[in-house]
Amino acid sequence: MANEVLEAMCEAARFSVDMAELQSAAGRRVAELMGAEAALVTSGASAAMTLACAACLAGWEAAAMAQLPQAEGMPNHMLMARTHRNTYDHAVRLAGAKIVDIGHNDYGTGAGVRSLESWEIESHINGQVVGMVFTATAKTLSDLPQVIETLHRHGRFVIVDAAAQLPPRSNLQSLIATGADLVIFSGGKAIGGPQSTGILAGRSALIGSALLQMLDMDVHPATWIPAGFINRKSLKGLPTHGIGRGFKVGKEEIAGLICALERYLNADEVIQHHEWRRRLDIIKEKLMVQPGLSVELLDCLPGAGVPCLAIKPSNTNVFRLSLALQELPVPLHLGESRIGEGLLLFIPTALRSDDDDYAVQCLLNALREFES
Ligand SMILES: *Cc1c(COP(=O)(O)O)cnc(C)c1O
Repeated sequence: MANEVLEAMCEAARFSVDMAELQSAAGRRVAELMGAEAALVTSGASAAMTLACAACLAGWEAAAMAQLPQAEGMPNHMLMARTHRNTYDHAVRLAGAKIVDIGHNDYGTGAGVRSLESWEIESHINGQVVGMVFTATAKTLSDLPQVIETLHRHGRFVIVDAAAQLPPRSNLQSLIATGADLVIFSGGKAIGGPQSTGILAGRSALIGSALLQMLDMDVHPATWIPAGFINRKSLKGLPTHGIGRGFKVGKEEIAGLICALERYLNADEVIQHHEWRRRLDIIKEKLMVQPGLSVELLDCLPGAGVPCLAIKPSNTNVFRLSLALQELPVPLHLGESRIGEGLLLFIPTALRSDDDDYAVQCLLNALREFES
């Protein structure tokens, strides 16, 4: 983490603050940077998914908030395209929502050219449907405008999980600009904030509901001052602790995230890219001395402009190599998203340049050990 971010966290730790007030101020700043109506700092993108669903399910109904994750008696279905399902679905179900899996797998499996179409979504919209969860990737993004148009035509919400869709930095604003009701980013990935942070941004009423279901609500109705985005007039009663009470975000994390987000938006993406390339070129050259190893420079996330090295050992079992690197006293974790193809990915984003030489030495030592 950058020194500036650490300093912001240390400074925040020295003060006692009203958390509702800090969350409102931080939310206003994040919203301003993203061009959103409102925003909230969460304890990660996964927590933001749960809060987003809880906000769509409960709205301003205190009784519904009190009931979640039991969602009987209220509309609780969230549509998801079959190809968008992933292991973060649990965060949707955690709110009490029931995922309704729709569409077909042609495009996702590479077996065809078609992806989800309006008529398929519409055929599943009924009184139980609250909205749709859309998993943003470089491949799915072009489907988003049509999904939003269809859901909004039927008065339903669209939640976009864009946790890892940075870079490109433009996604921070462009996803909100599509008209999606709620957009989610992870604070601990490319933004470089504290690991336990995330962003939930979008419609003011939904953010207000999410905030209400997260903040400490051990308050007296006579003395309670609602945080920003919370519209007291919309509330019939004052809810108690909500489903997000366990997703507390500390003042240090909030300060760290705001600092990291501002740094991220001010950084020069072209210079950053050149710097990654320069480091990877050096690493590649050092690794190439080792026989039985192929090293190739790739784009590690399509469309995101993050270069990485694909490392392919020809004489060594790639799983054994990855395990050996992780078992070192100072472990080295290489990307395993393509390990099934025999490749390990050297991704520079989360590695300090000071550690590059150590990483190279670890790899060369491990390979030599396997050879002997
Ligand atoms: C990483 C990721 C998350 C979770 O992010 P956290 O901030 O770690 O909670 C959710 N959804 C997707 C698609 C992700 O890639």
